[in-house]
Amino acid sequence: TPILVWFRRDLRLQDNQALATAAQTGGPVIPIYINEPEESGNGPLGGAQRWWLHHSLQALRASLRAHGSDFILRTGAPLDVIAEIARESGATTVFWNRRYDPSGIGTDAPLKKALVERGFTVSSFAGQLLHEPTRLLTKGGGPYRVFTPFWRALEASGEPAAPIETPEMIRAPVRWPASEELERWKLLPTRPDWASTFAEIWTPGEQAAAERLHKFVEHALAGYKAERDVPAAQGTSMLSAHLAFGEISPAQIWQVTRGLTETPVDDVVTFRKELAWREFSYNLLFHNPDLGRQNLDRRFDGFRWLDNDEQFHRWTRGLTGYPIVDAGMRQLWRHGYMHNRVRMIVASFLIKDLLIDWRRGEAWFRDTLVDADPASNAASWQWVAGSGADASPFFRIFNPVLQGEKFDPEGLYVKRFVPELADLEARYIHRPFSAPSAVLAAAGIELGVSYPTPIVDHAFARDRALAAFQEIRT
Ligand code: FAD
Repeated sequence: TPILVWFRRDLRLQDNQALATAAQTGGPVIPIYINEPEESGNGPLGGAQRWWLHHSLQALRASLRAHGSDFILRTGAPLDVIAEIARESGATTVFWNRRYDPSGIGTDAPLKKALVERGFTVSSFAGQLLHEPTRLLTKGGGPYRVFTPFWRALEASGEPAAPIETPEMIRAPVRWPASEELERWKLLPTRPDWASTFAEIWTPGEQAAAERLHKFVEHALAGYKAERDVPAAQGTSMLSAHLAFGEISPAQIWQVTRGLTETPVDDVVTFRKELAWREFSYNLLFHNPDLGRQNLDRRFDGFRWLDNDEQFHRWTRGLTGYPIVDAGMRQLWRHGYMHNRVRMIVASFLIKDLLIDWRRGEAWFRDTLVDADPASNAASWQWVAGSGADASPFFRIFNPVLQGEKFDPEGLYVKRFVPELADLEARYIHRPFSAPSAVLAAAGIELGVSYPTPIVDHAFARDRALAAFQEIRT
């Protein structure tokens, strides 16, 4: 009888234990994907990721077909869908790769139990992380809350398991169960099609992920340590969305960074540390499923947020009057992505300059990022807020002008995403509000008309934030 392989956040053929194990049996395999309208725990999939998912499923279907297989798409609760396909196909065995986010954990254990009770054989496999979140624990047996000892433990734990090869042949069943049509799921935006600009930089799917990795190792890994902080440079891997959908596994990435004799060790270690931040975030989420909703430092529950709706709206549109913040928010809107340094700047601005609850920023990112990840997003927002594990202290408040001048000195990043400032002299690009009127006029800028004046004065906002923080600091 056929084996059902349930694809989730592992939309790849290579290094896919569930698929490889099923294919190895030599028996027929039915790959399935379930559209779960009621996916609980993480909240609904954001708009940007719906776009990605559509294209990723299309790509996976094409690769499965190229391997003599196919892909069955169905909508419903996983238990009902699996039972239904099993009835139609005679399958009694189900395989999947584990997830460690609230939706995944919340589904896995009860589903497994229910299926076993109905007589199914169920096996789940690892594959989303380098190490299972129960593996790296402190001496006391608890989860790590500080990154550096976590990293040391990860380094000391030996090399992660080598990635598994793509099965050469995936045997098809005698008869395929019916599949829903992907187009009917309406994952793509229609009017307006705000995602039309995504294709400028993204190609979802396993093959594109492998190409990105290859290109990064070839051209940008050497120099990563210095370049990763420069938003105008193409200095990072851009693999985050591919990782979020499991089009590539961290083990595959780790493997490729092994034995590179010509690349400076510092660059390789810095890059691996970033992958370790992803692992660390998953450890935090696994042990604190409310990470996206609940301050880890409960003192922040008493923080007096201002939550001004008008200011929040202007932040989302990139109309704050601080060019580096606005460029970041517009990059996010245009490409569903933002450079890491700028994510930290815009998050600090929202939380500390505008005193808006980090959860509103987290939710906006969740809806607009193609790489939105329940672990990295929640952990990073709490990190910036100062309410998280091993977080940046609240009193460290980024000055958006100085950050811009330090990391985007020529203003190339700003000019790319804020075209109304394109002709402004570089020395004023991060502070148009300080430019003499003749300079503004020469650049065709009318402050308050063609580009906003700052929605808040940073020096004033900084003092206000510190005062608010004093209130909870006991
Ligand atoms: P690279 O520099 O090439 O790094 C390689 C990989 O390491 C990334 O693909 C990512 O998987 C991981 N990584 C890098 N930095 C971090 C980090 N700080 N925390 C966790 N993992 C990291 N990353 C997400 O994947 N999803 C999110 O939803 C997300 N939200 C964020 C929100 C805020 C406020 C901040 C400050 C950061 C957030 N990050 C998030 C982390 C980071 O910004 C992105 O992972 C990174 O910019 C992705 O680009 P890249 O793939 O080119 O990264």
